[in-house]
Amino acid sequence: MGTKELFQNAAAHASRFRDMASSRAHRPTRDYAGSVAVFDGPLPARSTDMGAVLDDLVARAEPGLSMMTGARFFGWVIGGSHPMGVAADFLTSAWGQNTGNHVATPSAAAAETIAARWLLELLGLPRESSVGFVTGATVANFTCLAAARGEVLRRAGWGVDAKGLFGAPEITVLIGDDAHTTIFSALQFLGLGHDRVVRVSTDDQGRILPLAFSAAMSRVSGPSIAILQAGQINTGGCDDFRTLVPIAKARGAWVHVDGAFGLWAQASPRLRHLTDGVEMADSWATDGHKWLQTPYDCGYAIVRDEVAHRRAMTIAASYLPLAGEGERDPSHYVPELSRRARGFATWAMIRHLGREGIEAMIERACDVAAFMAEGLARQNGIAVVNAVTLNQIIVRFGEGLPAERADDLTRRTIALIQSDGLIFAGGAMWRGRQVMRLSVSNYQTDRAQANMALEAIVSAYRAVSGAADKA
Ligand SMILES: *Cc1c(COP(=O)(O)O)cnc(C)c1O
Repeated sequence: MGTKELFQNAAAHASRFRDMASSRAHRPTRDYAGSVAVFDGPLPARSTDMGAVLDDLVARAEPGLSMMTGARFFGWVIGGSHPMGVAADFLTSAWGQNTGNHVATPSAAAAETIAARWLLELLGLPRESSVGFVTGATVANFTCLAAARGEVLRRAGWGVDAKGLFGAPEITVLIGDDAHTTIFSALQFLGLGHDRVVRVSTDDQGRILPLAFSAAMSRVSGPSIAILQAGQINTGGCDDFRTLVPIAKARGAWVHVDGAFGLWAQASPRLRHLTDGVEMADSWATDGHKWLQTPYDCGYAIVRDEVAHRRAMTIAASYLPLAGEGERDPSHYVPELSRRARGFATWAMIRHLGREGIEAMIERACDVAAFMAEGLARQNGIAVVNAVTLNQIIVRFGEGLPAERADDLTRRTIALIQSDGLIFAGGAMWRGRQVMRLSVSNYQTDRAQANMALEAIVSAYRAVSGAADKA
């Protein structure tokens, strides 16, 4: 089979898969062990026709896929891989641009330059900031914290990029008790240690307590980094930036914000009060593949001080052309050299939705979350545990029953919901108790989908608690 027919077949498979979202279970219908068995086989000795391989790949893969792109997928904060971004990403793969520098691929570098400017405007962040197009918020956090580490040590007279951390002045890292687990990974990669941090206590929404923060900050002497959060992964809670950032700045700390999804509140004038003051920080990590709906492999590392950003990341070699004044070499802002041209999907998504479309999408998700939370809270025995201000809902079943019994009912309700497959929701532990998490972050999720989801959740709970009553 030739290239043209192969690509057409791939596109046909892709759109057929997307059309299944309304009818197919949102969970995989084949588990991991089954999938391994289906993919297994001896190392192929000979070539197989491309068309045959493609059809074979699809047949083997589809049952083991989740409908993560579906309108009723509420597990984790997850993007919908919007068709516009997918189409741009098809081309990104087909064009095969190694996006290291601007001379070899002017378009890939230019798309990043413009998408970066649009992102800063959408998110209301300082226009002088630089943006690295990375794989996701985990690496965005890593990249921003590398810039932070370098800059606070440089101010203390230590060049960490050349000399490393041995013998360096100690850095105090302050972080909220309910920070995302990937921040601790970033600290681990950077030699700052995930346990060697000052953890600051938080309120019932996982937001840093200003008094505790102020007390911890007042004990800091020497280089320091304060890590705040926009969008706690369970509650959606955002730290009080207006209060916390000046406290940290007064002690000379670098302030970093993990805003993987919560930073997108900035795209809505109605929701922006939730992240009030966030633009005063020094760096921000956020995702394209969550609320902006680009396909996976897309996050943004945003740093106010471009020099600090580049000092931490620039890759230079005699065989690589250097960017001049006003030019952008994509590899100067991210850890890797060879990578895909992530700017195209971001540029296409922003161009397609526009500022108003993005604003409407963010607000719709929050409205649907509030609507679902109200619907659930009205039911006997179902409690919404968090204040639903953004797109996150945490739910407990068996409210009023002894805690262990409610834990058990919550677990069994989640299991039944998942096996029914009309929607997908997952569980988590929150304040020591089992909860169900609902994240509303798909561009297709509207009230009609929310009503179907509510019905599925309530009837699963009734079935589980009815069975428990009889037992
Ligand atoms: C998802 C998330 C991350 C990690 O982002 P990835 O895109 O999965 O790398 C970090 N912090 C928060 C708050 C998140 O929601």
